[in-house]
Amino acid sequence: MTLASVLPPTANSLDCSHYAKGLYIGGQWIGGSGIPVVDPSTEQVLAEVPDASEAQATLAVDAAAAAAQGWRTTPPRQRAEILLRCHKLMLERIEELATLISLENGKALSDARGEVTYAAEFFRWYAEEAVRIGGEYRVAPSGSNRILVDMEPIGIAVLITPWNFPAAMATRKIAPALAAGCTVVLKPASETPLTAYALADLYAEAGVPAGVVNVITTTRPGPVTATMLNDARVRKLSFTGSTGVGRTLLTEAAKTVLSCSMELGGNAPFIVFDDADLEAALDGAMVAKMRNAGEACTAANRFIVQDGIYDRFAEGLANRMAALRVGPGTDPATACGPMITKKAVDKIDTLVTDALGKGARILVGGERPEGTGFFYPPTVLVDVPPSAAMAQEEIFGPVAPLYRFTNEDEAVALANDTEYGLAAYIFTQDLKRGLAIAGKVEAGMIALNRGLVSDPAAPFGGVKQSGLGREGGIHGIAEFMEPKYIATAF
Ligand code: NAP
Repeated sequence: MTLASVLPPTANSLDCSHYAKGLYIGGQWIGGSGIPVVDPSTEQVLAEVPDASEAQATLAVDAAAAAAQGWRTTPPRQRAEILLRCHKLMLERIEELATLISLENGKALSDARGEVTYAAEFFRWYAEEAVRIGGEYRVAPSGSNRILVDMEPIGIAVLITPWNFPAAMATRKIAPALAAGCTVVLKPASETPLTAYALADLYAEAGVPAGVVNVITTTRPGPVTATMLNDARVRKLSFTGSTGVGRTLLTEAAKTVLSCSMELGGNAPFIVFDDADLEAALDGAMVAKMRNAGEACTAANRFIVQDGIYDRFAEGLANRMAALRVGPGTDPATACGPMITKKAVDKIDTLVTDALGKGARILVGGERPEGTGFFYPPTVLVDVPPSAAMAQEEIFGPVAPLYRFTNEDEAVALANDTEYGLAAYIFTQDLKRGLAIAGKVEAGMIALNRGLVSDPAAPFGGVKQSGLGREGGIHGIAEFMEPKYIATAF
């Protein structure tokens, strides 16, 4: 059965077991069970996917190795056309994929549709890049020889992704890897594996040869991924997830001196100056905070607001947050879906309680609802002291804490007071000041008078403990290639 035959794509009619056929290895489905996938809105089990063993992880690497030579020698134009078909098929099935994402992740359908579009765009962008892989040619300064540099696919890549963007975090890795000529093993998050398996079917339909993309799920990610990372045939690890797990994986990868790309956690400051356009800042704040109900690594985690605009910004944000409808992601009226797990709600609740204990005040929300589903209401906190735990930790939920500043130096000091450095947002109508502050804030990505920073055509990634390397843009494909230098006589 193909994806297209699963119709219509509504929450009630989507047969989730269709996406749980097994591990996807070498173009075959290897059945199994052991990982229940839970709908965070209802707490009902949607389907069960297999729990891969170390031996099955090695089978996946075997499949990637068997396909490697054929794929790296497939002409770039042919690789590009397959990637373009992936893009086209994803957009054709946007409603079905969005419903699936919404079911297993909980995010609002509008967010899920946005994710599918964003995720598909990586295939189009890297289809265009696949045929433009360049090299270098120079005469050596000594004049004794020529320098030729060829860009080769790095080799088999292990890709590990989180649950918050089940489609986009996978395609942001798979598309450049395939464009570069690499074969891959993807290990998606246990909470949201169905989208990864649905996409595996779609890639096959688009013409991706067996073994080029393999997908496995496991309840023991440590030992199972270590088996792959310690396999001498694997040459790349690309990880998106928390900084803590990233540190563990870097240690593991050191054993085989593996090339690593790390997209880790964030603690984005959202700085609003007195001269900001208030409505634009509020629009930006809602996008930066509430896309994915706050479950984004780029989510505004600290609103750092200047004295003169603080009260108006706080009131405007509280009004907008209060107007958001909370409910199951698959309900078209929902603006804020549930969190991924009960544990996630517990963490948010603990952070809010801690901030209140240290002097913060609630303008809206802040009360954990009773009943089924992992819900937390949109919340605005004011007078949050920098000593609150949420000033240092990712909230990963719909909570907007406001901090106050008086002058530029104070704003920059507050913004940089974190081990993270992923995204930052700055709102001011003075472009000169905006660019100057952008230069001083320690982050890999700055949104100036915008609430959205992600773009498949731009380098996504962080500094400090937010990661290593970049995904997207012309930089993303370089992570899957290795320069080979050939010194040749005239
Ligand atoms: P996580 O707990 O670090 O998990 C991410 C992935 O790593 C999952 O597939 C997980 O598998 C796997 N994993 C867990 N422990 C592992 C281990 N010891 N060895 C190998 N793999 C292991 O993160 P998450 O909770 O899913 O995602 C949220 C985090 O991701 C946040 O910190 C967020 O900021 C970050 N994030 C960063 C970006 C970015 O681009 N910088 C984008 C999105 C999210 P299981 O699911 O089976 O545990």
